[in-house]
Amino acid sequence: MAEKRDYYEVLGVGKNATGDEIKKAYRNLAKKYHPDLNKAPDAEEKFKELSEAYEVLIDPDKKANYDRFGRAGAESIFGREGFRWSDFTHFSDIEDIFGRDFFGGDIFNVFFGGERRTGRTGPTRGSDLRYDLKITLEDAAFGLKTEINVHRAGVCDLCNGSGAKPGTRINTCPNCKGTSQERRERRTPFGQFVSITTCSRCHGEGRIIETPCPRCNGTGSIGRTTKISVKIPSGVESGSHLRISGEGDSGIRGGPPGDLYVVIHVQPHEFFKREGDNIFCEIPITFSQAALGDEVEVPTLKSRARIKIPPGTQTGTVFRLKGEGIFRLNGRGRGDQNVIVRVKTPEKLNNEQRELFEKLAKIGGWNVKKGILGMIIGLI
Ligand SMILES: [Zn+2]
Ligand SMILES: [Zn+2]
Repeated sequence: MAEKRDYYEVLGVGKNATGDEIKKAYRNLAKKYHPDLNKAPDAEEKFKELSEAYEVLIDPDKKANYDRFGRAGAESIFGREGFRWSDFTHFSDIEDIFGRDFFGGDIFNVFFGGERRTGRTGPTRGSDLRYDLKITLEDAAFGLKTEINVHRAGVCDLCNGSGAKPGTRINTCPNCKGTSQERRERRTPFGQFVSITTCSRCHGEGRIIETPCPRCNGTGSIGRTTKISVKIPSGVESGSHLRISGEGDSGIRGGPPGDLYVVIHVQPHEFFKREGDNIFCEIPITFSQAALGDEVEVPTLKSRARIKIPPGTQTGTVFRLKGEGIFRLNGRGRGDQNVIVRVKTPEKLNNEQRELFEKLAKIGGWNVKKGILGMIIGLI
């Protein structure tokens, strides 16, 4: 690949650009080069280059490192192999730019699945995997330790990942002579163009397996379901991503494994609604409880609590149970539970009840015959 360009040059911003300016430059260029929108052959590479530059320049620490040490600084950030999509931590910014729906809600497939083999014959890193995990609101509130079954590619134990039947040969591809690439020259009225593509014979492997391994059909890997322990911290929200390093697909030809991304989906709760670290619930009370006062029991995330309804409570009044909400993500404290009381109007009255309400209405000077029972609520 061509010599890496300067990050500032890539985004077209000055050294003193503010975060907003960097964001804006990235937005504009990302729209221009996203490979789903731009079909030029180098668009994907350009988009990745932009995202690498953004990853560094938007982060004050990484930027300072790069300003001081240049390329060597970048290497210390991304390692020798350079930037990969899994190093990118600003997917939410990309979602902002293109809208969540643009990716069908599955950005990881676009970026990680879309990271194509570069055609090198050396060790290749395994793919990153995504696992969607549904959890309850209680799990989100208190955190959770669980095990998930992940189906992933593991190294074939018969051929040790080489893809060749043990005892058989692996030959260098005669078409590309092991370079994995094919050069095509085209003459056009504008001059001669050389395009370099992945070798069609070996598909970029650089080698031809004489007899494929019978267990893995020459791929060097076999799918296995593996149990992986996951610790979900308290306070997670739907859409949070948890990165579990090295638990993705195994690498190819001795390459490192990919990472596993666990995407959290907090299921709606039948009784509680969540807003940030606080939860809300509604409880019904009767006319008499609202008018005369009472003590009622309400469910909490863990057990139950009692709240005092003072006499003369209006419908819609909110009672706060301090510290009965969600544990905060940073481990500092806990949100509240808000209990909203709703005064239930009785839908059917027996004779005795009807008489009492009529009596009540007379005392208050209201005429029930007109059928405005609802006004009684205002009276009580
Ligand atoms: Zn095998
Ligand atoms: Zn080849």
